[in-house]
Amino acid sequence: MSLKLTVGDLTIHRIIEQETTFLPALDLLPALTPDLLAENRPWMREAGAIDAEDVLILCFQSYVVKTPHHTILVDSCIGNDKPRPLRPKWNMKTDDTFMRGLAAAGFSVRDIDFVMCTHLHVDHVGWNTRLENGRWVPTFPNARYVFGKREFDYWAEQHSKTPVPPFGDSVLPVVEAKRAEIVRDDYAIGDHARILPTPGHTPGHVAFTFGRGKDAAVFSGDLMHSPLQTRYPELSAKFDVDQVQAATTRRNFMERFCDTDTLCCTAHFPSPSTGRIRRKGDGFSCEAV
Ligand SMILES: [Zn+2]
Repeated sequence: MSLKLTVGDLTIHRIIEQETTFLPALDLLPALTPDLLAENRPWMREAGAIDAEDVLILCFQSYVVKTPHHTILVDSCIGNDKPRPLRPKWNMKTDDTFMRGLAAAGFSVRDIDFVMCTHLHVDHVGWNTRLENGRWVPTFPNARYVFGKREFDYWAEQHSKTPVPPFGDSVLPVVEAKRAEIVRDDYAIGDHARILPTPGHTPGHVAFTFGRGKDAAVFSGDLMHSPLQTRYPELSAKFDVDQVQAATTRRNFMERFCDTDTLCCTAHFPSPSTGRIRRKGDGFSCEAV
């Protein structure tokens, strides 16, 4: 399996940290019925998106996008040394999978010019920081870190009421190191990277579109977690802060990119995780290329 894709003048690398069972489909997707699951089980199994016990298989990964001008990391995955007691596979882990993946793609931490986070959930900000002499420091020393303002403000407010660990250990230290850019929706990096607001999963969730003059690729973050939601956009995940808005955003996103050449790079679909959106019945599919 190649972890490298080329579209237009962009080179895209997948940096996989984990690809593993996550939650039962019926648990992650509260509106999914046993009948609908049974109807879709064969193709979901075939796609490696569900195991023999109907547990969803998710990939946890970052993307590195090389434009003619910049090297940009989209989402920063899970990270090491972070207390995540609710998720044993993420809690205080110390493996070198992510860093080996980065090196295998030909990058060092010094090569990353920008880190862009689709939203500020735990599995999208983890490698923003690493532990150095007991302090959280930016992992990518030369990078500007791009956080959407609506998303940043939402988590800052939550964190002020009850500490939100990933915000405290993986976002605020970047702000304190003066490496953060808190940006509005019209933010762009040169003529190659833009923001597409996609609220619902979190209030300030955004997708990123890349390509000069057209959207050669879109990074969809967590506006969907499983290919089952491409087929049935109304199935929201239990982690979607606003389930109704998330469903509307998902369908609008699919309509926007359906039957275009834009490569859709999902955060969590099982490998190959990427494809083009095509219409299928009342819903859609993400067809591998
Ligand atoms: Zn996620």
